[in-house]
Amino acid sequence: MSHPLPAQLETARLDALRKLDLLDTPPNEAFDRITRMAAQLFGLPIAAVSLTDVDRQWFKSRVGVEHCSIPREKAPCAQVATTSSMLVIPDLALDPCYRTSNLAATGVRFYAGAPLMTRDGHCLGAMCVLGIEPRSISAAERTGLADLAAMVMAQIELQHAIGRIDPVSGIPNRSQFVDDLRDLALDRPAGETRLAALVNLATPEQMSSAVRAMGAGFVDDIVTEAARMLRAALGPTRKLYHVAPFQFAFLAEPDADLARFCDWLGAWVALRADSTTARFVTTATVGVALFTTGQAEPQDLLRDMYSAAHDAIEGAQRVRVFSAEQNAAFMRRFRLAKDFGSALEDDSQLRLVFQPKIELATGRCIGAEALLRWRHPVLGEVSPGEFIPVVEQTSLARATTRWVLERALRQLAAWQRAGLVTQVAVNVSAVNLLEPDFCAHVLARLQAHGLAPGALAIEITESALMSNRTLAAATLEALAASGVQLAIDDFGTGYSSLAYLQSVPAKVVKIDQSFIRNLDSDERKRALVATMIKLSHDLGQLVVAEGVETAPVARFLADAGCDQVQGYLYARPLAPQQFEEWICAKWTLARPRRAKQGQAACA
Ligand code: C2E
Ligand code: MG
Ligand code: MG
Repeated sequence: MSHPLPAQLETARLDALRKLDLLDTPPNEAFDRITRMAAQLFGLPIAAVSLTDVDRQWFKSRVGVEHCSIPREKAPCAQVATTSSMLVIPDLALDPCYRTSNLAATGVRFYAGAPLMTRDGHCLGAMCVLGIEPRSISAAERTGLADLAAMVMAQIELQHAIGRIDPVSGIPNRSQFVDDLRDLALDRPAGETRLAALVNLATPEQMSSAVRAMGAGFVDDIVTEAARMLRAALGPTRKLYHVAPFQFAFLAEPDADLARFCDWLGAWVALRADSTTARFVTTATVGVALFTTGQAEPQDLLRDMYSAAHDAIEGAQRVRVFSAEQNAAFMRRFRLAKDFGSALEDDSQLRLVFQPKIELATGRCIGAEALLRWRHPVLGEVSPGEFIPVVEQTSLARATTRWVLERALRQLAAWQRAGLVTQVAVNVSAVNLLEPDFCAHVLARLQAHGLAPGALAIEITESALMSNRTLAAATLEALAASGVQLAIDDFGTGYSSLAYLQSVPAKVVKIDQSFIRNLDSDERKRALVATMIKLSHDLGQLVVAEGVETAPVARFLADAGCDQVQGYLYARPLAPQQFEEWICAKWTLARPRRAKQGQAACA
């Protein structure tokens, strides 16, 4: 008869049994070998490794037993499981509890079972031997049966460890971290706020360089050394996890204080940096995240911590606490990068708008700058200031510029035929200048649309030019030589050296909006802009001012000798149809007597 356990203990025992994933698994020779030894040791026909489930005894391994399981009710093994101690019944027929049991009814007279104990003190069931004659048991046989039960447990733990222990460090891996966090949630269903940390030993590039230079063994040493130091720092009671080749994770004590935990982690990073051979080749960082038990998905927690650890590479602090806002910004950038590819294939998402360029001396519109617009199907309008830098970091920069160039040239060809505009400007990214066939492609597309090279201006930001000086030079030279106009965009923001800028074959300099805004009220800006205009003219370059919003600014620029302007004062970037209407209206106003001719061209 089973001795009832307090319900909680029985729940914990069943939990331990479930976690080992043993129930209803196929037979296994490693267990069968032990079972055969047990039968042999006792010279008995029946032996089994019997696990006690809610309502059955399930046999992981058996000799002389036909069934895989028997009811738990009145099974001696169940008594072993609930009492966690060895049970010997010399004669079932004489035993007050078991003489009416199913087992006795099958003719079994003798039973001896040793408990199968986990390290945490849960009893899973019994290693048992049974006989059809009454029998006694010697002290040596008792010890032998207990030893066999311990061997079964060692086998169970070994099998369970496979896939849960990192082979390099011997530390529980990510699967174990995930399982343990789920268990913690079961343990604390009310929700408890905890802190977790992830130590990232190095950036992927650092590890890859270390492997290339020193071999995989060197990297294993870095990992093992860090594991040893972390274990020492955490002490024997706190669990460390090896969650990725170069990453370790652990939880803070339940009542830990965030600031103190971060200080402690910072001190650990400093200690490691001082004492290891890896200090010259790796930058260890730590990401910390708060989570609520039962609410956080373990995989999400790992991602949050990694994201913080990754961000910590950039700042001065090597320990960074995960921030939901930064994460949201990152997730948005990631989404834009992911979705832009489909936008390029879906004509309903991307479109070009055109902003007129005005010649200050005559007030004429002499061209238009093509600017890209993206209406994301879910996020709505996304500004190019946001998505272009994201796209530039993907392989889509090439396709994007080609998309823009094609549509801008097609539009220009139509407008040229209508006598509306002579030149269009297209913005290109730094990486485009590194495409070996960029210049050839541009010229081929110009030719395909029947346009002269001078009909196209290519705008490259000053910082883009700076980022790839030598490699970009060949493309720039080739474009300039072919007659395509080059313009340095956002001039004044790139901290460029003048010596370098004057070597770029750009005919046009576009002064950045930040210098033009509030120009009329800012003495210093006026002096700067006047100097930029004079300098560019001295170098033989045309000057365009961007972001002209008020008439006084336009007047100042005209007086300072600026050649062309763009800005809301004249027109915002316009859809093609609006652009045509705008230019026709302007034409009508500027040249009333030629209005008929202008309108004919606009029609
Ligand atoms: P950008 O080439 O310097 O373009 C000028 C930006 O200033 C445009 O912003 C334009 O709408 C805005 N702007 C023009 N006049 C005014 C004004 O009077 N006041 C103010 N406050 N703003 C004015 P947008 O269209 O948002 O484009 C931002 C940047 O995105 C562009 O700066 C350019 O660097 C980039 N971009 C836009 N389209 C493309 C493209 O097709 N390819 C590439 N590579 N970059 C592009
Ligand atoms: Mg531009
Ligand atoms: Mg600009």
